[in-house]
Amino acid sequence: MQDTPPVAVLRLGHRPGRDERMTTHVGLTARALGADRVVLAKAGASRSGTIEDITDRFGGPFAVETTDSPIGYLNDWDGPIVHLTMYGLPVQEVEDEIRDAHETEPILVVVGAEKVPWDVYEEADYNVGVTNQPHSEVASLAVFLDRLFEGEELDREWKDADRHVVPQEAGKRVDEE
Ligand code: SAM
Repeated sequence: MQDTPPVAVLRLGHRPGRDERMTTHVGLTARALGADRVVLAKAGASRSGTIEDITDRFGGPFAVETTDSPIGYLNDWDGPIVHLTMYGLPVQEVEDEIRDAHETEPILVVVGAEKVPWDVYEEADYNVGVTNQPHSEVASLAVFLDRLFEGEELDREWKDADRHVVPQEAGKRVDEE
């Protein structure tokens, strides 16, 4: 993942009240597993502060953006668009092609919450299923990013962190600056 073009995650369809934690977790998962930024559409923008707070404390770089026009954001994206959906082609069949494209082009990964508009299926270059079973945008995003980066994101180093978790066989240790 060193020196590859950016990966952004667009979160669609946030339902106030019901999706607060899921939208936050989409952002935190995008950050932890190697994406460069999350783009929160419409009401999902309310979760920006929580995700930025984690980046302030545990490091980055990671950006949080918002948009009132998610379809416009998709249309303007200059690079492959990957829409994660249970109806898509199996990730294991398309990951190599997407990884090759990512060597030269930024990727936009789109995840939904409620029903995703048909425009997104049409605008996507790849509709990708992480299994063709219904589950969660957080789970599908995590598996997809790990496949895209082939596990290299697990060794990522974080800049400007106030807190560093020191892995322990048992117990918790966090060093603070
Ligand atoms: N039936 C809904 C739809 O129209 O897409 C599924 C909603 S699901 C609760 C929320 C999101 O999780 C989906 O928009 C999709 O991004 C993701 N998702 C759920 N299952 C998935 C799977 N098997 N593969 C990839 N993404 C999945």
